[in-house]
Amino acid sequence: MAHAVQAADVLAARNRIDPWVQRTPLVRSESLSSLCQRDVRLKLESVQETGSFKLRGAFNRLLTLSEDEKARGVVTVSTGNHGRALAFAASRLGIRAVVCLTSLVPENKVAAIGDLGAEVRIAGADQDIAEAAVEQLAKEQGLVVVSPFDDPEIIAGQGTIGLELLEQQPDVTDVIAPLSGGGLISGIALAMKAARPAVRIIGVSMDRGPAMVLSQQAGKPMPVEELLSLADSLTGSIGLANRHTFGLVRDLVDEMVLVSEAEIAAALRHAYGQERLILEGGAAVGIAALLARRIALGDGPIAVVLSGRNVNIAMLSALIGDPAAANEG
Ligand SMILES: *Cc1c(COP(=O)(O)O)cnc(C)c1O
Repeated sequence: MAHAVQAADVLAARNRIDPWVQRTPLVRSESLSSLCQRDVRLKLESVQETGSFKLRGAFNRLLTLSEDEKARGVVTVSTGNHGRALAFAASRLGIRAVVCLTSLVPENKVAAIGDLGAEVRIAGADQDIAEAAVEQLAKEQGLVVVSPFDDPEIIAGQGTIGLELLEQQPDVTDVIAPLSGGGLISGIALAMKAARPAVRIIGVSMDRGPAMVLSQQAGKPMPVEELLSLADSLTGSIGLANRHTFGLVRDLVDEMVLVSEAEIAAALRHAYGQERLILEGGAAVGIAALLARRIALGDGPIAVVLSGRNVNIAMLSALIGDPAAANEG
């Protein structure tokens, strides 16, 4: 079926954002390769500026605004990383940005967005209330609404990760990526399946409120109760009026799996203990799924997208330092 965003849009996005974002490393994981008996590689979006891949979509969206829209500015709702990336990109490009956050967003992320020069508004306890605040601001002040995931240019920007994977590991057979609103995985799937239709795309969500998984099971976008999770950047609804990512995920994602809080905690400890990587919970769900053996793997190389590193360090060090946890490994 025809989608509003195509593989060619991802190629265009790559040329557009190239001066502004990093091509991130793909590194082999000895620990996961030996555990899975496969060549497992880690795509380190955690080293992207602002600490997550969201910078790719943010720059692509802002660079495709009309001159008139650039002059008016943008407004968004975000669980943190999209707001931070959009604030950063907007300040680089000299565009006004207003970021509406829910009260669930951790303090470290709120502060980081303000420091980048964006205007921050805390609006209500869930994403749908914050979205209403965004619509209001758009109407009153003429700001352009930028969705964190349900936007063709955001999806195309995130998809540039898929182009890099094709170059860095041409024989990759399985790609494992976090799944929330679905912008990340839709972009990667579009880019990679155009070149290699047989590549398997596997999405991983936390079992506490997996909005996209529940929506796919229901056959339509479903509301979801927003629960606290170690994977805070994966919480929230896909939007009841979802236009793009619901259909893209339905058509392009081969498998979706869920992981528990304990499995995410184990993955964060593994990432630090075995790979010396600092990740946030939402970025570690792919490792969590491999450690818990939740995915039936093919024979070829596996790429695991590690999507960000914006974790509360006190929380992470408490997790890593947990003596009960040390006994596990
Ligand atoms: C936004 C985000 C995700 C999920 O991306 P979607 O496009 O919403 O599926 C995963 N990990 C991190 C770190 C994020 O910031």
